[in-house]
Amino acid sequence: MENCLFCKIASGEIPSKKEYESDNILVFHDITPQAPFHVLIIPKVHISSMNQIGDLNPDIIKEIFLTIPKLAQQNGISEKGYRLVNNCGDFGGQTVQHIHFHMLGGRHMQWPPG
Ligand code: 5GP
Ligand code: ZN
Repeated sequence: MENCLFCKIASGEIPSKKEYESDNILVFHDITPQAPFHVLIIPKVHISSMNQIGDLNPDIIKEIFLTIPKLAQQNGISEKGYRLVNNCGDFGGQTVQHIHFHMLGGRHMQWPPG
């Protein structure tokens, strides 16, 4: 989609620090990390938010979630744990309108979130 930041990152038009890539998904490091390990997991296809998840091929959803424990293992955060976050819409704090999952680890997280 035109003028979507994460579509441009997915296509390589805007550079990112890639952690993992397949035909369907991209995992890259957040530009403003909130934890020692902070990556964003996105489908390469443009889906604006969790509200449109039905438009996303179920195989891609499956791939995103199956990738998470592998990333945890590879980055040494499986045992201590980590947090997966999806911000949806205005109240959810979503600032980029291309669905993404934050994966944060390497420190103890607080609850409740702000
Ligand atoms: P949201 O607030 O929509 O859940 O998260 C958007 C995230 O994208 C933020 O954590 C922000 O730091 C990150 N971000 C914004 N612009 C860029 C960018 O150009 N490159 C990367 N790698 N991350 C970005
Ligand atoms: Zn997009």
